[in-house]
Amino acid sequence: MRVLITGGAGFLGSHLCDRFLAEGHSVIAIDSLLTGDMHNIAHLTGNPDFSFIKYDVTNYIHVDEPLDAILHFASPASPIDYLKYPIQTLKVGALGTHNALGLARVKNAKFMLASTSEIYGDPLEHPQRETYAGNVDSIGPRGVYDEAKRFAEALTMAYHRTHGLDTRIVRIFNTYGPRMRLDDGRVVPNFVGQALRGEALTIYGDGMQTRSFQYVDDLIEGLYRLLHADFHEPVNIGNTDEKTMIEFADIVNELTGNQAGLVYMPGERIKGDPQTRQPDITRAHEILGWSPQVPLPDGLARTIAYFRESIHATGQGD
Ligand code: UDP
Repeated sequence: MRVLITGGAGFLGSHLCDRFLAEGHSVIAIDSLLTGDMHNIAHLTGNPDFSFIKYDVTNYIHVDEPLDAILHFASPASPIDYLKYPIQTLKVGALGTHNALGLARVKNAKFMLASTSEIYGDPLEHPQRETYAGNVDSIGPRGVYDEAKRFAEALTMAYHRTHGLDTRIVRIFNTYGPRMRLDDGRVVPNFVGQALRGEALTIYGDGMQTRSFQYVDDLIEGLYRLLHADFHEPVNIGNTDEKTMIEFADIVNELTGNQAGLVYMPGERIKGDPQTRQPDITRAHEILGWSPQVPLPDGLARTIAYFRESIHATGQGD
């Protein structure tokens, strides 16, 4: 296959590039580099099956080559990033998705949308099944991301139903691993960075809010299987191992040997920050035979090693 990956220089996009190349496919990565980073794909330079185009997919996308699949992963994805770039976030979810779908139609290619657990908002159903319609504040600070992705899902289903496009929608739950940006503001790089610098971990709010963290390799396996499955409704991909932020911080401190403890910063919590989040992954299990394989301590150990290395390389630990 020849696969186009938007957001190909991002955290998830770059891991997708690696996986498709490893499976013997050729990959074209597109990224505006607004939040993506060339370091994530530097190791692919010179690979004859890989090419990179610096481009903002909110503009019309032209690709000469035939394409078999388009994976639309371009978007700011951390709350800090989408609060900093609210209009770009709305545009890439709306206009970017439209352009990527149009390209898939012209190329007669499969299309996969990277959607998110954020479409459930601050959920009133727990755990969240794909049938749950969500609890989103359209004009709240997180609305720029949530509504962009909700619109993207609606547009993807419209292309499937109207044009018969061969589409997939994955709802990705909190994912961590190597190539997250140390400064992306999400809880994993924040906590690990703080722990490695010997600082107290910053708990926003009372720390009783929960998330369920999946290691990036598990997600990539689920995405690869989903692309090859004949299923068009949304599929949750995530780990069901739910933790409060206090429990999570304690694990990070334990794994790093950090003695500095926790510091509470109640004012830092963004309005609409979900109180709970845990995927129901029955559908992924039934349709893809998929379930997460990497336990939190193992994935975190690999992630800590990555951040230790990058702090060392950039001198940010000094
Ligand atoms: N959080 C925290 N301390 C931090 C960063 C985040 O307590 O230094 C909390 C945040 O308030 C949220 C959870 O961790 O409840 C997950 O936040 P993240 O930004 O990683 O992603 P989200 O799941 O909210 O999109």
